[in-house]
Amino acid sequence: MVLTVGISRIHFPVTTLGPGRRLGIWFQGCSLRCEGCISVDTWATAKTLIPIEQLMMKLSSYLPLIDGITISGGEPFDQFEALLAIVVQLRERTKVDILVYTGYGVEDITDQLQQIKPYIDVLISDPFQRQSSQTLRLRGSDNQRLHCFTSQAVEKFAYYQQAVTTEDKVLDVMFDAEGVVWFAGIPRRDDFVKLQTLLKQQGHQIKVTADKTKY
Ligand code: SF4
Repeated sequence: MVLTVGISRIHFPVTTLGPGRRLGIWFQGCSLRCEGCISVDTWATAKTLIPIEQLMMKLSSYLPLIDGITISGGEPFDQFEALLAIVVQLRERTKVDILVYTGYGVEDITDQLQQIKPYIDVLISDPFQRQSSQTLRLRGSDNQRLHCFTSQAVEKFAYYQQAVTTEDKVLDVMFDAEGVVWFAGIPRRDDFVKLQTLLKQQGHQIKVTADKTKY
């Protein structure tokens, strides 16, 4: 049987989800549905599934250009078999660091973690919690933990174990081929509310995508 995966987006370069110019891979579908999640467009199960081999052909074209890879979502661990196959193949083809986000606590995915650990460098775990403070780099709420599994990760991500400052760039803004504006990164609390208010004040109409599968 052909192994497939639901993907929301692939983008390069992403500069706000780890060090350097990174390849961003967003899985489509999330069963966790944290209150206050800013990625509701990635919640729905993917309408189209792509064979892993097809995805790998697309990803491979970026590999000579990238400093690292960030896999987010959606919830990558909800499609664990596909996630594992992807990181195994990426690890064979590149030495750059691989960071994976999950909304699960590491205690809830011990079996999967054992299988995936040899192939990734960093895991950021735990669900977004709106009631938690937000002071740490790469994290939407301070309950989220950054785990380094390799010496490369310890060195490259030491900076990201620290508190975010006003000097940090936290969002990449992109325009896709259809003119849709989208963001990558970890916005500060209420950034999007402020942005919407500002745009409305200037006479713009805001339409937010939700549950839209895109690849
Ligand atoms: S796990 Fe991530 S994508 Fe899923 S609801 Fe929570 S914050 Fe949103």
